Amino acid sequence: MSRILFDGVTKVYDGEVVAVDGFDLEIEDGEFLTLVGPSGSGKSTLLRMVAGLEEISGGEIHIGDTVVNRLPPRNRDIAMVFQNYALYPHLSVRENMAFGLKRSTDLPKEEIDERVEDAAELMGIGHLLGQKPKQLSGGQRQRVATGRAIVRDPAVFLFDEPLSNLDAKLRKHMRTELQRLQGTLDTTTIYVTHDQEEAMTMSDRIAILNEGKLQQVGTPREVYNRPVNTFVAQFIGSPSMNMFVADLDDENARFTGDIDLAIDPARADAIRERSDAEQFLLGIRPEHVTVHMEEVPDSVAVHVDIVEPLGSDDLLYFDLDDGIGVEDVVAEDVDIGADENGDEEEYKVFVEPGSVPDEYERSETPVYLTFDTDHVHVFDPETGENVDLSPGFGTDARAESAAAGD
Ligand code: ADP
Repeated sequence: MSRILFDGVTKVYDGEVVAVDGFDLEIEDGEFLTLVGPSGSGKSTLLRMVAGLEEISGGEIHIGDTVVNRLPPRNRDIAMVFQNYALYPHLSVRENMAFGLKRSTDLPKEEIDERVEDAAELMGIGHLLGQKPKQLSGGQRQRVATGRAIVRDPAVFLFDEPLSNLDAKLRKHMRTELQRLQGTLDTTTIYVTHDQEEAMTMSDRIAILNEGKLQQVGTPREVYNRPVNTFVAQFIGSPSMNMFVADLDDENARFTGDIDLAIDPARADAIRERSDAEQFLLGIRPEHVTVHMEEVPDSVAVHVDIVEPLGSDDLLYFDLDDGIGVEDVVAEDVDIGADENGDEEEYKVFVEPGSVPDEYERSETPVYLTFDTDHVHVFDPETGENVDLSPGFGTDARAESAAAGD
C-alpha cells in the first residue's frame, strides 16, 4: 500500500512565511499526481516534506498506513529525482545508479548489478553504464537520475521539475517516456512542475496550488473544463481564458456588457442563487469563440490587432472597443492570473488558418464574435469563484474538490 495522504499539512518558515497552508489531499496507490502552480506557491516545500528533507510544521503526511512526520528520509521508502540530477561526477553511470542500494541495503552485488542493468535497459541507457556523467548529454543524465530512482524500487517516486534543464523537444519526449515508465512500474508518483502544459499532458490528476493553498484537484480534463475559480481558469490552458465583464439580467436570462449572451433561464436562476453580484466575469477559452466577417445576431464587433499563424490554427488577437476592464470589477484579493506575457487584458481566439485576412490587422473594419454559451464560465468578481452550476460546469468540480478536502 503506498497511497499518500496529506492531512492539514502546513509549513511555516522562520515562524512567519506560510509556504503551505492546511493542505489536504489523498493520492491513490499507483497514481501519477502533479503539483502545479506558479513559482513560490509551495510545491517544492510539499515534496520536500514528503521526502523528509523539510520538517512539517502542522498536520500529518501518511505514506501507506504510516505517519511519516518523524521518520528519517531513508525509512520512508521513497526515491526522488531532482532538477539538477545530483549525479556524482567521479562515479560511472553504473556506480551512480548502484550507490543508494549499496548504502541503504544489504543486497548482494549480483542482485544490485541485475537491478541496475534492468533499470538501465528500461531507460535505454544500457550502453552508457561505463561512462561518467560529464560524457553524457542532458537527456542521458536525466535518464540516469530516473534510472537511479527506479533501481531503489521505492513505494513512491518524487520528481522535482526533472525536465526543466532540457530543451523543448527533448522535454516533450521525456514527458512521454516518464509517463510510459510510470504506467509500466505503477509506482505512486508526485511530480512537481510550474509548467501547466507538462501537468496537463502527464498526469492522472493535477493539484493546483497558489500561495500555499490547494485551489483544485482533478483530472486534466476536469480542471480545464470546470475550473472552480478565476485562478485555475487562467493558470490552466494556453493561451489563457478570455475574461469579459457583464451584468446579469436574471429576469430575461441575459448577460449584457462587454459581450451579450442569452442563457437558459434555469441557469440564470442557479447563478443568481449563488451570487447577488451585479457584474460577473465571463470566462471563454479561445477555441470557444466563433469569428464572423459579417454582423450576425447577438454578436460583438471587435477590432483585430494581430493574426498570428500557428500552423494548424491562426491565433487572432483582438481589442474590445470600450471594454469594461476586468481589473475595475474584481476584488483586490481575487487572482485573475496573467498570461505568459504578464498581460491580463489581451483577448485571443483561434480561427481557421487564413480565414481572417491580414488586411484586418489594426484596420477600421471590425469582425464579429459569437460565443459557445455552453462553454462560458461565470465567476463572481468579489470571490473569484465559479458560480455557474449549470450542467457540465461547477457542480462536479465543486463536489470533487470538496471530497478532496478543498
Ligand atoms: P515553489 O516550489 O512552488 O516554487 P517553494 O515551496 O519553493 O515554492 O516556496 C514556497 C514559499 O516558501 C516561497 O514564498 C518561498 O520563498 C518560501 N521558502 C521556501 N524555502 C524557504 C526557506 N528555506 N526559508 C524561508 N522561506 C522559504
